[in-house]
Amino acid sequence: MRGGAVAAFRGRIVAAGPEAEVLAAVEPTPDATVVDAEGRLVTPGLVDCHTHLCFAGWRAEEFRMRIEGRDYLEILKAGGGILQTVRATREATEDELFDSLRARLLELLRLGTTTVEVKSGYGLDLATELKQLRAIRRAALWAASPEGTGQEVVATFLGAHAVPPEFAGRAREYAELVAREMIPAVARESLAEFVDVFCEDGAFGPEEARLVLEAGRRAGLGRKIHADEVHHLGGARIAAELGAVSADHLAVTPPGDFAALRDSGTVACLLPATSFFLMKPRHAAARELIAAGVPVALGTDANPGTQPGFSLPLVMSLACLLLRMTPEEALVAATRNAAFALGRGGRAGSLEPGARADIVIWDCPALAHLPYRMGANLAHTVIAAGRVRVSRAGRDAETSPREARTFPRAAVPGLSQAVAPPASPPRSGPPASRPRSGPGDREGDRR
Ligand SMILES: [Zn+2]
Repeated sequence: MRGGAVAAFRGRIVAAGPEAEVLAAVEPTPDATVVDAEGRLVTPGLVDCHTHLCFAGWRAEEFRMRIEGRDYLEILKAGGGILQTVRATREATEDELFDSLRARLLELLRLGTTTVEVKSGYGLDLATELKQLRAIRRAALWAASPEGTGQEVVATFLGAHAVPPEFAGRAREYAELVAREMIPAVARESLAEFVDVFCEDGAFGPEEARLVLEAGRRAGLGRKIHADEVHHLGGARIAAELGAVSADHLAVTPPGDFAALRDSGTVACLLPATSFFLMKPRHAAARELIAAGVPVALGTDANPGTQPGFSLPLVMSLACLLLRMTPEEALVAATRNAAFALGRGGRAGSLEPGARADIVIWDCPALAHLPYRMGANLAHTVIAAGRVRVSRAGRDAETSPREARTFPRAAVPGLSQAVAPPASPPRSGPPASRPRSGPGDREGDRR
């Protein structure tokens, strides 16, 4: 859409559509912030629905091992990989985890990401998992505070991320511990909204995954699953069977499993940056998933081992190049559908009344530039919960716009909106697997 506008009040979008209609519908408050996108692309804030950002220590040396040809499961068996992060995270204090997570959230904000899911899973014992989840909760409260980034942070308990060294060879026993003791403890403190499990050879089999997810369901938590990343163990079918909100990875899921996902409304959360970083020859079958009617989302999978990048726009580039998604599909997958993968469909990742006022102005004139300008950070102005949090107006902007006028609070009419005109939220269940961009010119606003 050209010449669009979005108006927000108290952190929520109240009107969106053609500028004249929006201006007719709302009366800006005297202290309203007015941001003119000056012809740039405007999208919803990006939603990263899959990260492992609460950890201590990077693993750059492993990068070298991978280049030498050793694969993930090999490194895992050698006691490296995730267990190295587990050792470092067990040693870190809650303050240290909170401080590093806060810094990472800021980096994500600068890249245009306004909703962030963060998993635990580097403790693999109750005390450390709780320490991670408390650090995530503090980061969520900080983000929502007046000094924070305005991002919404969503916590997921991933106690069954790997088999801890204390339980080597006894995955079943550890999964039982997760189900019987850890999940109820997490639920008692309301520390997580979702439970997740890594269903893979060398981690947890289908039976253990079911055990963990069923315990999550009994505790009132939403379900997610790391499924079919390296080997096909049927994780996608388990996700469908147990009403999981998302099944993630799906790099080797056979098409025969797609109908189950479609029928359950489970979002296929694809993580192409991971299969790219691991130099895998095979990536998720996005085209076939979309053709089968499965809603597709994208996430970074940001983590210290198998995908250390924080950029969702780069993930969108990889989704286009490796998964053959169109720029429109990639945007919907990284916003609207990613919100559905977090149980927030229509409330985040969308420019529609009632949704969080999370809006990004990109320093480019049209949507295709976003994945095309691979690796560039084009985020020009990032608005989260109705406030401008990042603004590059007046500096290093390619189109050198005049300085945007900014005031402290809410209400942002005057935004030109180039994609995803407000669509009415689906009544329930599955989000669109196809982009909802309606008719109109996607070449952007050149007022
Ligand atoms: Zn993951």
